[in-house]
Amino acid sequence: MKSDLRKEDYLGYFGSKEKINSQIHKCSYCGSKLLLTHLPDYGKLYVQETSRCLDCGKIHKKRLHVLN
Ligand SMILES: [Zn+2]
Repeated sequence: MKSDLRKEDYLGYFGSKEKINSQIHKCSYCGSKLLLTHLPDYGKLYVQETSRCLDCGKIHKKRLHVLN
């Protein structure tokens, strides 16, 4: 019974990981490919990632921290 639960947990984890990967490269609104641009800010040690959908024009912004 315990092994069955673990198997489900693993499959659930794998499924969510796949979903996250597709969200990075695809538009969450229409599923088209995203154009990624990175704008580094050296003073504040972060990179502003802007991903624009080539199809619907939706812009997703994400702030990535740089660890040196
Ligand atoms: Zn789109």
